[in-house]
Amino acid sequence: MRAWRVRTPAPIDRGPLEFSTAATPEPGAGEVLIAVRACGVCRTDLHIAEGDLPVHRPSVTPGHEVVGEVVAIADHTDTDLVVGDRVGVAWLRQTCGRCRFCRRGAENLCPQSRYTGWDADGGYAEFLTAPADYVHRLPAGYTDAELAPLLCAGIIGYRSLLRADLPAGGRLGIYGFGGSAHITAQVALARGAEVHVMTRGEAAQQLALELGAASAQGATARPPVELDAAILFAPVGDLVLPALEALDRGGTLAIAGIHLSDIPVLNYQRHLFQERQVRSVASNTRADAREFLAFAGTHRIQVTTPIYPLDQADRALGDLAAGRISGAAVLHVS
Ligand SMILES: [Zn+2]
Ligand SMILES: [Zn+2]
Repeated sequence: MRAWRVRTPAPIDRGPLEFSTAATPEPGAGEVLIAVRACGVCRTDLHIAEGDLPVHRPSVTPGHEVVGEVVAIADHTDTDLVVGDRVGVAWLRQTCGRCRFCRRGAENLCPQSRYTGWDADGGYAEFLTAPADYVHRLPAGYTDAELAPLLCAGIIGYRSLLRADLPAGGRLGIYGFGGSAHITAQVALARGAEVHVMTRGEAAQQLALELGAASAQGATARPPVELDAAILFAPVGDLVLPALEALDRGGTLAIAGIHLSDIPVLNYQRHLFQERQVRSVASNTRADAREFLAFAGTHRIQVTTPIYPLDQADRALGDLAAGRISGAAVLHVS
């Protein structure tokens, strides 16, 4: 099969990825083999390619927003999946199921957790394997390319929205408006929120307004109203300050990314007092994924997906790094 691998992490314009031919993987115990049809391009893939995240598996194949078809199931696997099912593979690949985090329903915090496209090969390839218990069924009514970004951008955005504790009918600020933000904004709007978007780039601001945001302005600009909750999607620690200053009393800022540049010094009175809170978001649980995918099945989410052929994954990542992508890029595989 053809697959991309991160040879030596480096800035994307130095070409850290290599496209080559590899043996088709065999599903191990409890796993399924999936023929990839589409794979989303996530900022985390860029962090892995550029070395912002440590190497977990040398020469890993990135990609954790995988839509494909089950083509084989390992013997003695206890699953109701059958060959031919259209399924999704997301970032969370496996957890231990026994630790105190797993036992209390917080498997996203499992210290033994493993991730697709980081600890194991992902979907920038024609095939991948995945544990059957962590493979997701997908809602009808979407193309493969439309479904792919739902599997990380959508699911993590959904968890970020939960972590932001937005009150019913409340005002939500969104900082950065890429793949995850443009899906999350639609979930919030469908639930009756008033959404204000702070982002660089006119195209992203325009997309925000088209999707129903009440306002769109520059990344550090003050929104026209005080916010009940905010989500920071841009991996820019400097934005924590204006986001906290925009919060009303009791407001919560959730930071959605796995990687953030340093946060400048906070001033207690200006940024935190009156019970403002800052929270991080770590991956997601399978329950988050099921809830969000069910929501996407009943509320049509409009996903803007610039499409790249599989052999141009490096160009897609370069465009993502340069801020040239509107919506969520997707690799078309087969
Ligand atoms: Zn665990
Ligand atoms: Zn992702």
